[in-house]
Amino acid sequence: MAWLQTVIDACYFLAALLFILGLKRMSSPRTARGGIVWAGFGMLLAVVATLLLPEMENRGLIIAAVLIGVAAAWWSGRRVAMTAMPQMVALYNGMGGGAAAAIGASELIGHVGDLVALNGVSAPNTYPLLPESWSALHAATVVAPLSPVALTLGVLGALIGSVSFSGSLIAFAKLQGWLDRRFVFPGQRVVNLLALAAAVAIGAVLVSGHLSLGLIGAFFGLALLFGVLMTLPIGGADMPVVISLYNAFTGLAVAFEGYVLHNEAMIIAGMVVGSAGTLLTQLMAKAMNRSLGNVLFGNFGAVAGATAQAIDGSQKPIEAADAAVMMAYAERVVIVPGYGMAVAQAQHKVWEFAQLLIARGVKVKFAIHPVAGRMPGHMNVLLAEAGVPYDLIVDMEDINPEFPATDVALVIGANDVVNPMAKTDPASPIYGMPILDVADARQVIVVKRGKGTGFAGIENALFYADNARMLYGDGQAAAGQLVSALKTLDA
Ligand code: NDP
Repeated sequence: MAWLQTVIDACYFLAALLFILGLKRMSSPRTARGGIVWAGFGMLLAVVATLLLPEMENRGLIIAAVLIGVAAAWWSGRRVAMTAMPQMVALYNGMGGGAAAAIGASELIGHVGDLVALNGVSAPNTYPLLPESWSALHAATVVAPLSPVALTLGVLGALIGSVSFSGSLIAFAKLQGWLDRRFVFPGQRVVNLLALAAAVAIGAVLVSGHLSLGLIGAFFGLALLFGVLMTLPIGGADMPVVISLYNAFTGLAVAFEGYVLHNEAMIIAGMVVGSAGTLLTQLMAKAMNRSLGNVLFGNFGAVAGATAQAIDGSQKPIEAADAAVMMAYAERVVIVPGYGMAVAQAQHKVWEFAQLLIARGVKVKFAIHPVAGRMPGHMNVLLAEAGVPYDLIVDMEDINPEFPATDVALVIGANDVVNPMAKTDPASPIYGMPILDVADARQVIVVKRGKGTGFAGIENALFYADNARMLYGDGQAAAGQLVSALKTLDA
């Protein structure tokens, strides 16, 4: 059946090409949708080709599992709100890591079975895998035994995949609001390090060829525990970095297990996800002014012994009509969208308002913070959906120097990303996070429903600043009022 293998190899090659080209297209919002479709076709091709593999067993069961997975993903994918995307990404990512870990587990357990068969005893125990037993094992068993390299990569993939699985589930629970954002206990770092060290030590024993079901169980238990422990203390502004880190982990785990299974499509897909995830992690950490070590082992802000900064002043409300006039006669307006704009689905109304301002000769720009909303690129996606031209959308480093020359900064549903306490209050949990310096604008108008806090759950001194006015209301309704007020002014 050499021809079948050739067909499968060709499918894998085409799938790899589609993954890479799809990823390339995802680098621009204009072509991203097409890129996702291309990569999706690549994955479909890889799955079908894999099912054609002559050595494949239990095809019926696999197809049933695929159908259940497709139905669940189709149903949840269609229902999910844009604002709940990070949870979904964390969940899917966790599933990928879990699948890679499950492959590792099944290969390791199968390997113990091979060793048991070779040794001619029924109860699995610890069996040193000596070089001479290797060739005998090869000859004696039906299942291809793992080479030392495959064993090493299999154990490594299982470790990384398990951490990604349990860590992503904790991240999911935090983003969903089921778990406390930051769970800290005394001696946490020591406990985390001990769990990791123990998992790595047992992994090393497995790699040395001393395999037993007990050791494999302990290895997976500790790896899963470490994923939980590692994610529990991480909260607030570090969540986006952690999600992309687990994304990279899952890719790496899949690539390693692909080597174990001799599956080229898995190796390539895993490496693509792993490297893209690593780059994204680096970019997010850089944008947040954080090192990865800081994210994983040091919490944001909260400098020990620092006392919380008191906020003076009061929140001063403004009517939509007055806010509209203020912006209508401004020279420069910068609009700062945040999570609340996504919740309110206000992007279309906001863009309509911006267009009316532009028609009056006002210079309007949109300022994007790297972690605004609930996923990387969240605001860019929403603004692109509303039709905002890309040249009006400006990144944090580029817009910050422009705020002092800005007449009005219109903050719509953003909170943490414009909180000046990230710069001034060492006791704040977001201390050290770079922010959009909207307080430097001459006037600030903040659209939000009431006194609700943002993701980090903290007060924001901006709302009490002398130059800030609060336009209370749902984002879409408030943007609609601003549009009406401007139209009345123009009439
Ligand atoms: P925040 O979560 O800080 O604040 C959102 C604000 O929107 C709230 O204060 C809320 O106030 C207001 N709001 C909610 N619903 C509405 C509505 N319908 N209409 C108007 N306003 C509304 O958002 P930011 O974008 O400023 O910050 C993002 C936060 O999320 C950061 O802490 C970031 O670390 C975190 N994060 C980001 C991720 C990413 O990848 N981008 C991933 C995970 C977390 P009120 O209730 O008064 O209306």
